[in-house]
Amino acid sequence: MKRIYMDYAATTPVDPRVVEAMIPYFREKFGNPSSIHSYGQESLESVDAARLSVTDLLGADPSEIVFTGSGTEADNTAIQGVCRALEKRGNHVITTTIEHQAVLRCCEFMASRGFEVTRVPVNKDGIVDPSDIEKSIQKGTILISVMHANNEIGTIQPIAEIGKIARKKGILFHTDAVQSYGHIPIDVDAMSIDLLSISAHKIYGPKGTGALYIRENTPVVPLLHGGSHEQGRRSSTHNVPGIVGLGKASRIAKQEMDQEIKNTTALRNQLLQLIEKNISGVHFNGHPVDRLPNSLNLSIEHVEGEALLMNLDLEGIAISSGSACSAGSGKPSHVLMALGLSETLARGSLRLTLGRYTTREEIEQTADAIARIVKKLRDLSPFGKERP
Ligand code: PLP
Repeated sequence: MKRIYMDYAATTPVDPRVVEAMIPYFREKFGNPSSIHSYGQESLESVDAARLSVTDLLGADPSEIVFTGSGTEADNTAIQGVCRALEKRGNHVITTTIEHQAVLRCCEFMASRGFEVTRVPVNKDGIVDPSDIEKSIQKGTILISVMHANNEIGTIQPIAEIGKIARKKGILFHTDAVQSYGHIPIDVDAMSIDLLSISAHKIYGPKGTGALYIRENTPVVPLLHGGSHEQGRRSSTHNVPGIVGLGKASRIAKQEMDQEIKNTTALRNQLLQLIEKNISGVHFNGHPVDRLPNSLNLSIEHVEGEALLMNLDLEGIAISSGSACSAGSGKPSHVLMALGLSETLARGSLRLTLGRYTTREEIEQTADAIARIVKKLRDLSPFGKERP
């Protein structure tokens, strides 16, 4: 059975060009970048080249990039690091209700340590109103953390406007760009971003490698203490193959971004059209325009998302019924609930995320399979049978 992967927001396959670039760093180029001999220097040069490739996608300076072990670690370093650094100045953090758990749980942890956290709601399309962020600012606000693009519904937040507000008020601004980095343009200066989280495995790089952009002179207490790697901002011997992979994946993303945006937008729109044509009671979740090109989130009436997902999986089609992290938890997605969806519609949700290797044929096969399985599930369900 030829399988179809349509869950690129959960993770991406590593691009063969990235694998090629990484391989020598498992073999002959195995040196520790902290060593002063030629083996070490060879590795250090590659780490620095990767740093440069990351800055190219952000408009940043190489000294402002800290490599981490994941996007989760980047989020935690940003939030915990700023809170610890500025705890004498204030103890209030602003975020939104639809952040990834890496931000929400970290904020909960800070709340358990005496910080006050405001979670600003979003509208029915999943967009936060910058004026609501502004209204939440208090005397002790030290950090605003708003994700760039949402992992479940693909909605893109008005980051530049929020950044402007934060800058005007002298508050640090962090954005979780794990889903947007390498997929859509980012400019940390134009968007007034002070801290930005990245993960390699969402851009055809390896798992277990991330980065945090930290604007020059931004106070951040490190999570990890040790050998003072990354200018003391993240101690640990560098994961050289992973970092090289992130660098290569970033270079490819820069070169191919425009074309990839065109391709995935066209395929995503075709998928939506086919689904809407063949199935009744389909609700589109998220913003129709301000969204990632590859992302589609739908709720289908009278169908349990997990049942649909499992039936598709039996046919070799991999999609998600929410984020990979909340899948299997039995709880409806906090993002869809924050949009105001009923619990039933939230449970009937599907996330289809396309990528570099998605073909037109796969789109047609997936749309056909969804229509067929929805009909089967509705025919089996007492509620489904009442439908016209
Ligand atoms: N933030 C967002 C928006 C994500 O989608 C993810 C992963 O799904 C993360 C953070 C965590 O990144 P990582 O898997 O590298 O820890």
